[in-house]
Amino acid sequence: MSPADKRVALVSGANRGIGLQVVKELAEVGMTVVLGSRDADRGERAAGPLRAGGLDVRPHQLDVADDASVERIASFVVREFGRLDVLVNNAAIYPVGPPLGANIATARETFDINLFGPWQLTNAFAPLMVERGYGRIVNVSSGSGQLGSLDRSHSAYGLSKAALNLLTRLLADELGRSGVLVNTMSPGWVRTDMGGSYAPRSVEQGADTIA
Ligand code: NAP
Repeated sequence: MSPADKRVALVSGANRGIGLQVVKELAEVGMTVVLGSRDADRGERAAGPLRAGGLDVRPHQLDVADDASVERIASFVVREFGRLDVLVNNAAIYPVGPPLGANIATARETFDINLFGPWQLTNAFAPLMVERGYGRIVNVSSGSGQLGSLDRSHSAYGLSKAALNLLTRLLADELGRSGVLVNTMSPGWVRTDMGGSYAPRSVEQGADTIA
């Protein structure tokens, strides 16, 4: 495969957890993978062992809630590769608490990261995908975002993921005919910093549907 044929992927929130595992799996099937990390140093450290293992992983700073950061990574991808084939919107936060009496500033931050981050990244990259007639966007959601789920214990998180699910359907409808597929999925309850050590699923199991 010539370098020009190599597919390029971007994974947000990829310095640890499920995102890091997705980076590894996409790179293992031959893609160039941009490892988006809110903290540049943590991204470099996460990418190190993968690069040492011969995988084509490029760490780059990405705070999904910061428009300027999204613009910088979009410019980097266009400059370096001129294409993006796969976007995995994985970054998220998980504040706990019921809706009544919730801290609205925290709820806003949750929406900024879990909903507006994926939306902004899609705005930045979908036109490039449409131009080439190919793209795959995966929005990592959660069972907490299903309307049938009535778990009040992490209300802002569940609301943000429910909105992400609807955004996915709207984008899938808008982009489907251009060769850009937009999907959402839930990784299940996974042993990460977010899921905790009692979760039944490994990061490999959490990442397999995404990859
Ligand atoms: P995690 O271990 O807590 O990792 C979250 C990642 O998101 C970290 O890399 C974190 O970066 C990043 N992040 C947070 N805010 C960010 C921002 N503003 N900009 C960029 N990156 C940011 O979580 P995980 O368990 O791997 O979860 C990955 C995805 O799976 C999430 O969408 C989550 O909602 C979903 N999910 C997880 C579970 C589970 O049981 N683990 C269940 C259902 C759904 P820092 O290191 O800088 O904080």
